[in-house]
Amino acid sequence: AKSAGRGNFQFFIAEMNEHAIERLKLESGIRRAIEAEEFLLHYQPQFDGPSRRLVGVEALLRWQHPELGMVGPDRFIPVAEDTGLIAVLGEWVLRKACEQQVRWRHARQENLQVAINISPLQLRRPDFIDKVKHIIAETGANPQFIELEITESALTQPTMELVARLNELVDTGVTLALDDFGTGYSSLAILRKLPIDRLKLDRSFVQDLPGDAEDAAIASAALSIARDLSMEVVAEGVETEAQFAYLLERGCHIMQGYLFSKPMSVEAFDESFPPGRRL
Ligand code: C2E
Ligand code: CA
Ligand code: CA
Ligand code: CA
Repeated sequence: AKSAGRGNFQFFIAEMNEHAIERLKLESGIRRAIEAEEFLLHYQPQFDGPSRRLVGVEALLRWQHPELGMVGPDRFIPVAEDTGLIAVLGEWVLRKACEQQVRWRHARQENLQVAINISPLQLRRPDFIDKVKHIIAETGANPQFIELEITESALTQPTMELVARLNELVDTGVTLALDDFGTGYSSLAILRKLPIDRLKLDRSFVQDLPGDAEDAAIASAALSIARDLSMEVVAEGVETEAQFAYLLERGCHIMQGYLFSKPMSVEAFDESFPPGRRL
């Protein structure tokens, strides 16, 4: 048993090294990839259920790696956060998404709301608000149609300073959404203090609807909180007609998920969703 234990331990060390090496590779890779323009944004449409209209998109970061192929954000965002590279990468995302909003406004003759994921670490940086203002001014984006998504877990115990910062952000004209809602156990008292427009019901609570009673209770709670605070709920990860119908019937209007579309490149998006396209 002892030798097997040691074997496991050595295996563990080897694994750890491999993990550390992978992180190191990713870290230097991220720096290089920004220069080499290997990052790109995919966009996933959001629909208004009752009118069946396309109302917006969420920008989702991808890494077109020369050897590894398309790498998803779950693999490199944590590394970017640990190494501080998230600041540069996040700024790149903000700029690209704002540029795309402007391009769509001209090409489509309509405004699409563009939602952008913001890392909690980005939000905490003292120069973040100035960066947002600067990028909006430089790109000519319409801030009313820019939504910043911040994960609920980053805001469960917000300091006064953080609340002030969120208010300053809203003063730039952008709107805020609470991402992964339901996973962070926010209290009503706290939500009331935050200048938030939308709650994004986390996909883990949508997945087992309508059958799962607990998830149904969380979805109803989110909808009733949103009603009380005049917020909107966006359901993410809607994959089935049954989920769609269930949420719609209960007053959840904005929907996003594979049932409608996966995130896709701008070219594919424009082909699939021309102006005026409905569900
Ligand atoms: P998220 O913000 O919760 O984004 C939703 C994720 O769910 C996306 O994964 C999306 O592709 C996926 N998804 C959408 N509809 C469905 C569905 O119907 N079923 C299932 N199973 N999945 C669905 P993705 O693109 O891999 O992004 C993962 C996470 O990475 C995001 O979760 C977000 O937290 C983070 N992320 C993505 N882009 C950025 C970025 O630009 N900046 C930052 N800081 N984080 C980002
Ligand atoms: Ca999001
Ligand atoms: Ca989520
Ligand atoms: Ca997430």
